[in-house]
Amino acid sequence: MLRDVHFQWSDEHGECYDCGNPAAFYSSEHTTPPYNKRCSVCAANDAANGAIITRIEEGGA
Ligand SMILES: [Zn+2]
Repeated sequence: MLRDVHFQWSDEHGECYDCGNPAAFYSSEHTTPPYNKRCSVCAANDAANGAIITRIEEGGA
């Protein structure tokens, strides 16, 4: 069964380089902005592939 899932994500840090959703993380798969910016979904995907993921805003929720 497929479900629609809705989130509200701040766009204050720009867009995910992979998919264009609002970014909240940096991925170690790239080292240079904006190529390293990831939304939560793409960050999780990169993490599953072994990348190191860090928050763009330290201490952010
Ligand atoms: Zn993304």
